[in-house]
Amino acid sequence: MKNRELIYLDNNATTRIAPEVLEEMLPFFKDLYGNPSSIYRFGGKVHRYIEEAREKVASLIGASADEIIFTSCGSESDNLALKGFCNYFGERSQIITSEVEHPAVRNTARYLKDKGHALVECKVDNVGMLETDIFEECQIDEFTIASFMWANNETGVIFPIDELAAKVKARGGFFHTDAVQAVGKIDIDVKKIPVDMLSLSGHKLHAPKGVGAIYIRKGVKVDPVIHGGHQENGIRAGTENVPLIVGLGKACELASRHLKEENVRVRALRDRLENSLLTSCKGAKLNGNKAHRLPNTTNISFEAIEGESILLHLDENGIAASSGSACTTGSLEPSHVLTAMGVPYTFAHSSTRFSLSRYTTDKEIDSVIAAMPQIVEKLRKLSPFIENAD
Ligand code: PLP
Repeated sequence: MKNRELIYLDNNATTRIAPEVLEEMLPFFKDLYGNPSSIYRFGGKVHRYIEEAREKVASLIGASADEIIFTSCGSESDNLALKGFCNYFGERSQIITSEVEHPAVRNTARYLKDKGHALVECKVDNVGMLETDIFEECQIDEFTIASFMWANNETGVIFPIDELAAKVKARGGFFHTDAVQAVGKIDIDVKKIPVDMLSLSGHKLHAPKGVGAIYIRKGVKVDPVIHGGHQENGIRAGTENVPLIVGLGKACELASRHLKEENVRVRALRDRLENSLLTSCKGAKLNGNKAHRLPNTTNISFEAIEGESILLHLDENGIAASSGSACTTGSLEPSHVLTAMGVPYTFAHSSTRFSLSRYTTDKEIDSVIAAMPQIVEKLRKLSPFIENAD
């Protein structure tokens, strides 16, 4: 890639820091370095900025500021929700989740299963949506935590969190949602949807990496995972990462301000890209429920060619995207999400995810639309799975 601007379409992996966010953080790396817990005014001043950031995060999701706990990332927030719940409620506590959760929830739930907690992983259908009546056979009580992602990081599929949370609450259980991919991309209001806990992460919405938050509804009890000082209401010890918290606050403020119009613009770009690739590339097939999806995500399989090869060819063209296969121990494993959806082998291996952001332009989409058909045609000719190369 020479002298070419990167076309970055991997925004579900991470996003660039918004210039306004960077600007807002800089004083806290230089002059405003006080410890927010110190009692002199220099500390108090810094503390006030943390509380302002808390208000901004809360406001984006309809929470009150005292229901927001800052963490280091989405994974920490997910760990706090599940381990915090199970540690507080003890050995009788059990977890219900889905087969397609991010490893931050999936592996935490499996860890807790190994520690003796019951775990149910609910199935999804062939478009990544939960099967109906998933809770019919589940025992749900006050020792149950259900954890379902708001939106899937690979396919963008949005679960019906309002219905799921209402069902679990009606039977006395608690509900956590991993909303790391949803916050800042779609409208979320915890006043209208009865979730007890919600995880979010800064680097998915144009704030820096290394900062996240969890919403914990008033009255919901969890044990801390990180013990120590009294910070964050005693729920998450450790001197606050002030610059990053301020950055997260600013990113949430920007998201609140621009979400509606960006939603429309980004969705139109995504649809244009998707429709074009589905018609111009041989063997292309969409993964995931078309109607219930994040506006910025499309996940497309290109029959019988390897996702990793597509990514390398896109990279040659200055385009960054992501694949649904992960290279583990030398073999390409299709993602657990596509496997759970029953996507056939020759499609699962070739899945490619394009995820857009508020910085994605028309021109960038034009470049991908121009590059992909040739890449697919070339790789199909090399594919051992296609007998008569077309
Ligand atoms: N949950 C989902 C759905 C994600 O997509 C991610 C990151 O990709 C995480 C959790 C983990 O967030 P973080 O990278 O901030 O730990």
